[in-house]
Amino acid sequence: MNIHEYQAKQVLKAYGAPIAEGVPVFDAAGAEAAAKKLPGPLYVVKSQIHAGGRGKGKFKELSPDAKGGVRLAKSVEEVVANVKEMLGNTLVTKQTGPAGKQVNRLYIEGGADIARELYLSILVDRSVGRIAFVVSTEGGMDIETVAHDTPEKIITVAIDPETGVTAADVAKLNTALKLDGDAAKDGSTLFPLLYKAFTDKDMSLLEVNPLIVMKDGRLRVLDAKMSFDGNALFRHDDIKALRDETEEDAKEIEASKWDLAYVALDGNIGCMVNGAGLAMATMDIIKLYGAEPANFCDVGGGAGKEKVAAAFKIITADPKVEGILVNIFGGIMKCDVIAEGVIAAVKEVGLKVPLVVRLEGTNAELGKKIINESGLNVVSADDLDDAAKKIVAAVKG
Ligand code: GDP
Ligand code: MG
Repeated sequence: MNIHEYQAKQVLKAYGAPIAEGVPVFDAAGAEAAAKKLPGPLYVVKSQIHAGGRGKGKFKELSPDAKGGVRLAKSVEEVVANVKEMLGNTLVTKQTGPAGKQVNRLYIEGGADIARELYLSILVDRSVGRIAFVVSTEGGMDIETVAHDTPEKIITVAIDPETGVTAADVAKLNTALKLDGDAAKDGSTLFPLLYKAFTDKDMSLLEVNPLIVMKDGRLRVLDAKMSFDGNALFRHDDIKALRDETEEDAKEIEASKWDLAYVALDGNIGCMVNGAGLAMATMDIIKLYGAEPANFCDVGGGAGKEKVAAAFKIITADPKVEGILVNIFGGIMKCDVIAEGVIAAVKEVGLKVPLVVRLEGTNAELGKKIINESGLNVVSADDLDDAAKKIVAAVKG
């Protein structure tokens, strides 16, 4: 789950991170009062969408020369004018795709005098099985570009979970970011507190791009992107409350209500599978035969007919889906339950695309019989290879 920049900054402020004062704004009428709460004379008006690259982004509704999604303002009047121009419009950035995202919230923040823009993130580094800091002196820009053109400028410092961030880690990070004096002192408190926030709240990613050194030599968190491990959200009601469903894929929201592991993807073959490993293998074999999956969907082990039907409805509701592959290896999950769930869903919402079903394992014969006798236009398959070939052929047909 992702949250907005202003929310991420609230989370980090509670840990004592150096962050400017700011006020979120949801309508133009609130802009003046919000700006007046800040000391000035420099303000920043920032679009709040779940995507980066806002500064260089363009609003669809405005002329191409209009300013982007992050704007400096030198008076309360300028703040208000910018809020009116930005709010409700669609911001297109490198990360939103061409459709862009509607800006429904803005964040007005006290402006900073920037000396240097740095990059800092904390993530789970699976190659070493640890949480790691990734830092670079080349902040404020696309980190993927830095990684591609000058990979030596990106430095990773993995943290030992036993000790947390040590003095030696702090020294490494300060050196990597070329921090000295007050900035290095700020670093020695900032790095451990960011690590603590990351682990306390079960984040999967914390990205501060840029972390800035200001003209007065102090550090400040200027931007913040935060993602959380969905499987740990049950123990963080405070974080769950920050969810903005308007930023999320409607299909993923519906799936989370049913406790389905569902991720929307870009291809055209909808998949319904049980077990994450089998789901991965199913997506791989679809790709092997030259097509792309439209989703990852794991209905899990103990799903009932209703949950299976819900999953099938979510998949068929996706206009990108031109064919569906149901691939079940029944263990705890029974194939007849899958068959009944699929039939119940089709009765309710119809079936306009080819459907290939491969059932194996517990009650497979019964499942196949139920599907064969349902009168549905289903192509049955003998094994996964056969199933993948058949659905790819049907979609390309
Ligand atoms: P992003 O484009 O979505 O990553 O949004 P950021 O919050 O990173 O802002 C983009 C850029 O705007 C930053 O890299 C800065 O160059 C600039 N910017 C943001 N806040 C301030 C500020 O307080 N003062 C100044 N001078 N520039 C700012
Ligand atoms: Mg940024």
